[in-house]
Amino acid sequence: MVSVFVSVDMEGLTGAVSPNQVLPGRHDYERFREVMVRETNAVIRGAFEAGAKRVLVNDSHDGMLNLKIEKLDERAELISGNHKPFSMMQGIDEGFECAIFLGYHSMASGEGVLSHTMTGFVSKAFLNGIPASEAVINATLAGHFGVPVALIAGDQHAVSELKEVYPYADGVVVKRAIERYSAQSRPIEEVEKELFAKTVGVLKRVHTLKPFKPTPPLRLVLELAQPSLVSRALYAPIANKLDTKTLEILGDDPLDVYMKFRAILLLASGARDPDYG
Ligand SMILES: [Zn+2]
Repeated sequence: MVSVFVSVDMEGLTGAVSPNQVLPGRHDYERFREVMVRETNAVIRGAFEAGAKRVLVNDSHDGMLNLKIEKLDERAELISGNHKPFSMMQGIDEGFECAIFLGYHSMASGEGVLSHTMTGFVSKAFLNGIPASEAVINATLAGHFGVPVALIAGDQHAVSELKEVYPYADGVVVKRAIERYSAQSRPIEEVEKELFAKTVGVLKRVHTLKPFKPTPPLRLVLELAQPSLVSRALYAPIANKLDTKTLEILGDDPLDVYMKFRAILLLASGARDPDYG
């Protein structure tokens, strides 16, 4: 009997290629809320089919108010809302046997649909020299709690960016990116069937998976879009400046590095101008 943590983003959903489909208030957003809940429910059904005792879903996109609880499989719990310390990983702790990432996208400056890393102003991120997508950073936090990532779904780049550094994760490629705002998507019912089947499969071998634990000391290097963002981020003495647009966060403890990363992004965002960035 296992407990499963599910983090659900939107840019990597089947069919999603445009900001108009994933940003609240835009004209196609409601359609993709439906796709989001369909992919999530496929995983929840798979988890309980495989004998899970608990599934906790964390809404992990934008203001994190995308999943409608009344549409979610009624056996799952849901974390909604923004301003939560672990952000896309809120709810993770030692009590889970695995984590599953849905709707995930590729990293900033990488190929792939709607690519970015946490915000629009992170240009690049490297963890111990490895190009670090959101999935890699979130897998590191899961690993801190001893939780392996069992499955990731998104476009081909989102899946391969994680699997290249962490081969334990199985993947569901829901669409093939053509460019950053175009993709060829699979039929959604076929995606749902694969998500269900792979969730059942990974839960059956969950005890063979190993958590992602990069060798300490950890070094998270961030290149930001503007020097002013680095200046603002360094108001708190928790990172070192490497050059005008680049800083590093150092630490032995993945949780400590993750929380510093969160704080750096929050500080830097305060230096953004709505018109000039
Ligand atoms: Zn997102």
